[in-house]
Amino acid sequence: MSKPIPYSVPEFDNVEDHRRHLKQRLAAAFRLFGKFGFSEGVAGHITARDPELPDHFWVNPFAVDFSLITASDLILVNHDGDVVEGDYAVNAAAFAIHSQVHAARPDVMAAAHAHSVHGKAFSSLGRPLDPITQDVCAFYGDHAVFDDYTGVVLDLEEGKRIAHALGDNKAAILRNHGLLTVGHSVDEAAWWFITMERSCQAQLLASAAGEPVHIDPEMATLTQTQVGSHGAGWLSFQPLYEQIVRAQPDLLD
Ligand SMILES: [Zn+2]
Repeated sequence: MSKPIPYSVPEFDNVEDHRRHLKQRLAAAFRLFGKFGFSEGVAGHITARDPELPDHFWVNPFAVDFSLITASDLILVNHDGDVVEGDYAVNAAAFAIHSQVHAARPDVMAAAHAHSVHGKAFSSLGRPLDPITQDVCAFYGDHAVFDDYTGVVLDLEEGKRIAHALGDNKAAILRNHGLLTVGHSVDEAAWWFITMERSCQAQLLASAAGEPVHIDPEMATLTQTQVGSHGAGWLSFQPLYEQIVRAQPDLLD
């Protein structure tokens, strides 16, 4: 290793450094989503609230594959949905969903949504994840089901209803659609998405093979505090970040 991995969320004394950090983390999250096969055409978005302009967010350029995105490709969108920095258009669904989530949840610095295969397959069941593994306990009592599919999310009222369903949780399963996760950092929101997708896969596999044993409620609640904290989510992303930057350093440009 060329440098030690930090074990806590970094702090910044100026906006420029903070913004550069956010954009590099966001670009890395997109590369990881690409690597894990979460893209589906032009669907999917991860947003990061700007450190200086809290009603603006950074998001992926419309119709660019996750696996090609660099930090300088990211676009800045204001509260009206206008692109105020960057050369690309914004995905209308990204604005409709994420603007309302960021508005409803001042604590949320980042939100992730994509049409990953296991997430959307599980979403069609219209039910929450069961506490059947240690990892899925991150979501125990901490995710919601948005049980009201009405087509592609293009209007702000629909985004508002999704934000309302999300409530204070870290994630929502959008029925017949896919997963949505949020966090206090880009790292955390991206990690929750990755591990939630895998948890959907694990439950689908286990349920197809037999009847999974549930972790009892007391142990699931305890485990949630161990693997489901903001810090745990942030930390879990760090090995992935180091790996993808080492493999694809151009993402930082
Ligand atoms: Zn979607």
